[in-house]
Amino acid sequence: MEYEAVIGLEVHAQLKTESKIFCSCPTSFGAKQNQNTCEVCLGMPGALPVLNKSAVELAIKLGIALDCAIQERSIWDRKNYFYPDLPKGYQISQFSHPICLGGQVPIKTETESKFIPLTRIHMEEDAGKLIHDEGEGSLVDLNRAGTPLCEIVSEPALRTPEEAGAYLRSLRSIVRYADVCDGNMEQGSLRCDANVSIKPVGSKTLGTKVEIKNLNSVKFIEKAIAYEIERQKAALLEGQEIVQETRLYDSNKGVTVSMRSKEDSHDYRYFPDPDLVPLNISQDWITRCKNELPELPQARSTRFQNELQLSKESAEVLIADKDLADFFEETVKLGADASKASNWIMTELMRELNDAEQDLNASGFTPTQLADLLKLVDSAVISGKIAKDVFKIMFREGGSAEEIVEQKGLKQVSDTSVIQNTIAEIIKAHPEQVQEFKEGKTKVMGFFVGQIMKKMQGKANPQIVNELLKKMLESA
Ligand code: ADP
Ligand code: MG
Ligand code: ZN
Repeated sequence: MEYEAVIGLEVHAQLKTESKIFCSCPTSFGAKQNQNTCEVCLGMPGALPVLNKSAVELAIKLGIALDCAIQERSIWDRKNYFYPDLPKGYQISQFSHPICLGGQVPIKTETESKFIPLTRIHMEEDAGKLIHDEGEGSLVDLNRAGTPLCEIVSEPALRTPEEAGAYLRSLRSIVRYADVCDGNMEQGSLRCDANVSIKPVGSKTLGTKVEIKNLNSVKFIEKAIAYEIERQKAALLEGQEIVQETRLYDSNKGVTVSMRSKEDSHDYRYFPDPDLVPLNISQDWITRCKNELPELPQARSTRFQNELQLSKESAEVLIADKDLADFFEETVKLGADASKASNWIMTELMRELNDAEQDLNASGFTPTQLADLLKLVDSAVISGKIAKDVFKIMFREGGSAEEIVEQKGLKQVSDTSVIQNTIAEIIKAHPEQVQEFKEGKTKVMGFFVGQIMKKMQGKANPQIVNELLKKMLESA
């Protein structure tokens, strides 16, 4: 029997508000434990929630960015359960009437581009955090309790771990562009639960799903799902049944392990929160949010192609990472040629970032550095080849292109007499190759250019070398 996988993702995005969703405590990351708390987010009896308007605004913007239908009326529900990080004994969420319905996320894999449909987006408050490994017992930090979240729920429409990874990368890019969430997975601003099932190829009935919780990097999501698919296949082949459960991914061992059997939604006894009125959103408000929304990835890609004449491929690579696209635009603003700048960013810069396992902002590398380097190449102060070396030094050690070229004596030699002398020496040293040239094997030019460049440490102006060499060989 051949099986195929079905995957649906639930992604929690932390909204970029200054204060929490139902109180005025700050949401800042890294504060002292329990410092950002008050009677509301500590769940004191009698304390009443007051909805944060900015949180709703960001949720509306997210919904627009993902093509959702923003609902004119949504309802706050209590999701009841006990856990030490949840002092009220319930989480305020949205159940039967969420803020957004439908929508889609564009994804691009090696083989195809398509849209993954969304079921819904609902708003909710985050719980606190338990710290287990410090001293006896466990510690509770409620700084995070009440942080505004949007839960973005996909339809079970993803087929492979790669598609799930592409979905998450695309979603991360969109939330960053829309400026609603910082998209930082390590800090938990974007958290993903993956639902995975398998079914016989072509079958219309979905298999029993297993939920993998709290995956905090794209790489782990892909690995966890791939492992889970194989585990389920092996189980079915051995005649076992898949049980609906929640599993955790152990990234050290590369396996998923059972955590608990999965509750059904009726176990939570959802009911409308009597402390909060329904949320009414006017068309006017939606329009205002739409107008405030920054340029989104797809629009930016089109603009890069139309206004800056980038190829579709280059535009897509650049826009996939907002920081990279910003870097590119800044470099162009500083006077660099768009096509050259995009090439340097997509090859040299991305390679260095990859090797250093750094993201652009942490690297400290600036558009000014790149633009200045390109100016030196354009004005033939250095060759393209030397520029690559200068780039590496600039990236790794800092400094401006000009300083490095000056300090290391990398200026291109355009002095024809110096070049002429070198060519004469090389021609003299290689009579056999000169003979070949005379017999019409012009390919041997490459050999001479190589020797000359080697002798001049790559600093000779290649155009002058080529012109002079041809003349001198012909008259040799
Ligand atoms: P629950 O009530 O258990 O949270 P939902 O119906 O809300 O379940 O679905 C949660 C997520 O699981 C959604 O992203 C959905 O696409 C996905 N999902 C639902 N059924 C399946 C299935 N059989 N296989 C894989 N994913 C599924
Ligand atoms: Mg769910
Ligand atoms: Zn508070």
